[in-house]
Amino acid sequence: MSSVKVAVRVRPFNNREISRECKCIIQMSGNTTAITNPKAETNSKEAQKSFNFDYSYWSHDETDPAFSSQLVVYKDIGEEMLQHSFDGYNVCIFAYGQTGAGKSYTMMGKQEDGQEGIIPQICKDLFRKIRENSFDVKYSVEVSYMEIYCERVRDLLNPKNKGNLRVREHPLLGPYVEDLSKLAVMSYEDIHDLIDEGNKARTVAATNMNETSSRSHAVFTIFFTQQKVDETTGLSTEKVSKISLVDLAGSERADSTGAKGTRLKEGANINKSLTTLGKVISALAEVATKNKKSKKADFIPYRDSVLTWLLRENLGGNSKTAMIAAISPADINYDETLSTLRYADRAK
Ligand code: ADP
Repeated sequence: MSSVKVAVRVRPFNNREISRECKCIIQMSGNTTAITNPKAETNSKEAQKSFNFDYSYWSHDETDPAFSSQLVVYKDIGEEMLQHSFDGYNVCIFAYGQTGAGKSYTMMGKQEDGQEGIIPQICKDLFRKIRENSFDVKYSVEVSYMEIYCERVRDLLNPKNKGNLRVREHPLLGPYVEDLSKLAVMSYEDIHDLIDEGNKARTVAATNMNETSSRSHAVFTIFFTQQKVDETTGLSTEKVSKISLVDLAGSERADSTGAKGTRLKEGANINKSLTTLGKVISALAEVATKNKKSKKADFIPYRDSVLTWLLRENLGGNSKTAMIAAISPADINYDETLSTLRYADRAK
């Protein structure tokens, strides 16, 4: 049965919003996030909408007691997902939101102390847990890092391989990317170096909307194997889990960025994969609540985008999923923020 945890995280104002004297339109209280429509009349029906999520992270004002640090986000979401992977589940955490809303900050963060995002924290914790348990279990860890841009897959750990890697399906293990590097790692330091290399290779193109705009999905995957030998029988059992950590492409609509030509095509591809991801997650949630299994599962549209196809084993079946919706606090982003909140709401 699948289950999705949904969180929303608001970032502080950026310089552009400060210089434009933007107003904060987000309020959070407990698990409720409310958004105020800056154009609506106060007290009118359209003035405020509120949503409930598993977690609401306030990072707009550091002095506020509700402020949530990278550690809090990791403790709530990363730690739980890591535990699931030790229990043998496939897990998937993804960050959704418009460009500049805080997806990379949440997933990758910065290298300074206390600023590291979910990916480095999960990797550190994974090796800490391995050290603690390695007396009776044998572990192996491999990682891959890829980018999906316009439905094409690129290997971020082997940038020489510029091409369009083929997506295939293994009869038992499901969809996979042919020739994607999968590197064995022995420590957090090994992973750290690979992530650094991969991040440098990421495609980041400028659009009219921001100086930089991320138009690709970045998927970092940890393949984690635990092998346990039964002392009396000598038989060994193996648990294999896949942890996929996904920094999605910006969710802003192509038309709001004044896109033309290639940009417009990029936008259409991004919209399609994000819409498909939303449909897959809500279809899975429906299956889980109705507890109808195989019949309904046939209609889950994994194949409609490369992203959902490759994440199939991490979204449905024996898996746990978490989504973090990153938003701006500013009135000028009202439309995009509302659409992010609605997307997150549908994922529940
Ligand atoms: P995205 O990946 O969604 O395009 P980024 O993660 O790059 O956005 O965030 C844009 C900027 O805002 C970055 O400079 C980042 O450091 C900052 N930022 C985002 N979220 C937070 C947060 N929760 N706290 C502090 N700074 C943040």
